Amino acid sequence: MKMNRRDFVKATGTAAAVALVGFPHIARADAKKVVVVGGGTGGATAAKYIKRIDPAIDVTIVEPNKTYFTCYFSNEVIAGERDMKSIEVGYGDLEKLGIKMVFDSAEAIDGAAKTVKTKGGQSLSFDRCVVSPGVDFLYDKIEGYSAEAAEKLPHAWKAGPQTALLQKQIADMKDGGVVAIIAPPNPFRCPPGPYERASLIAHYLQKHKPKSKVVIIDSKGKFSKQGLFIQGWKKFYGFETDKALIEWRPDPDGKLPSVDVKAMTVTYGSMDDELKADVINVIPPQRAGKIALDSGLTDDSGWCPVDGRSFESKKVPGVHVIGDACIAGAMPKSGYAANSQAKVCAAAVVALLKGGEVGVPSFVNTCYSLIAPEWAISVAGVYKLGADGKIAEVPGSGGLTPMDASPEAHAREVQYAYSWYTNIVNDIFK
Ligand SMILES: Cc1cc2nc3c(=O)[nH]c(=O)nc-3n(C[C@H](O)[C@H](O)[C@H](O)COP(=O)(O)OP(=O)(O)OC[C@H]3O[C@@H](n4cnc5c(N)ncnc54)[C@H](O)[C@@H]3O)c2cc1C
Repeated sequence: MKMNRRDFVKATGTAAAVALVGFPHIARADAKKVVVVGGGTGGATAAKYIKRIDPAIDVTIVEPNKTYFTCYFSNEVIAGERDMKSIEVGYGDLEKLGIKMVFDSAEAIDGAAKTVKTKGGQSLSFDRCVVSPGVDFLYDKIEGYSAEAAEKLPHAWKAGPQTALLQKQIADMKDGGVVAIIAPPNPFRCPPGPYERASLIAHYLQKHKPKSKVVIIDSKGKFSKQGLFIQGWKKFYGFETDKALIEWRPDPDGKLPSVDVKAMTVTYGSMDDELKADVINVIPPQRAGKIALDSGLTDDSGWCPVDGRSFESKKVPGVHVIGDACIAGAMPKSGYAANSQAKVCAAAVVALLKGGEVGVPSFVNTCYSLIAPEWAISVAGVYKLGADGKIAEVPGSGGLTPMDASPEAHAREVQYAYSWYTNIVNDIFK
């Protein structure tokens, strides 16, 4: 008997299975759909790992920018130690895996209709949505500051044009100038970041403009890896001497400073002290990216409550939030944390799409900070979901660079930091 294609399909039972043989990237009509909002550290990792775990899932990333600049190592760009190109990555390799890119902004995520609407007018349907929009800034909490003022007083807390602007302002500054860094209140993206930035700018000034200094205006009384930073600042930058290249001015009362863009001054502390500066880097208070707020994913804190097993939103079922935007217990808002959460979320999304069980996850995070080109420090932690549903650090699991580490050990940490960068960028985008 001669069999035509229709008879064959009937006999074997599934047209889709036949259509898929040899064409793993061709989505089946009934393939499950995941839309990922935000193609940064968390979003790109989640998309890649969902596709890896189950190539039959139709995965789309919605992201406005054609390339992504990593915030990690952007402090080296600001200090003139590397160029912008070296922190830029594209999406070509993810597309080769079969992930679809929609270069547009998401404007609304509708959990009930299961659609993402984009600024360009597309409506993308999903079975599950993963959201990783990073942070947005509460500009108005710093009196005198705004999105427009950031063109003169850069935040450089999202890498890209702002990074280049701050780098240029420091390169153009006269010798004898003052660079003010306004450090944000907790919680914020990359807790050691402002202090690493101060260190690397001080290194640049020491080399090129030794009569200058960096002054950190801080509404917090303490900060991440403080003992190790201060040890490094004393060793390299004359901290707490009259030749100090770095000064730290904390305000334990937590009062936020204000700025005068025209006069280039910062007013801070309970006595309203005034600092005149040549460059002012304002890192404003933060909350989850705007799309999370607009889609009802945030609570009163401005961040997104999630189930720590799957990162499914506690507010909008079917939508998962990862990375800086989510509330992840003891985990810091870091790229490594976002990457680790994204993998847990990816496994959970695939399991849920198949009606399977979601496991009890654990996570890792390591944050390196460079104090000088041959001197880095780190903090590492392993985290687990506790019985109370909160993500907590596993006691005794992590640690800090020891205070008595040798110069060789600090130099090794620089190499670890560079290799961490290569590995994480490959893991996310390649
Ligand atoms: C100076 C600095 C240094 C840092 N150094 C380190 C480090 O050494 N190690 C480390 O682990 N972490 C570091 N971080 C932190 C790290 O960059 C962030 O924690 C990480 O990027 C968070 O990932 P995310 O996916 O939440 O956000 P992001 O990586 O910012 O990605 C968010 C993405 O969402 C997109 N997006 C936003 N809104 C929309 C929308 N409406 N529609 C579509 N897309 C949207 C954005 O364009 C962006 O691409 C550093 C941060 C800074 C600022």
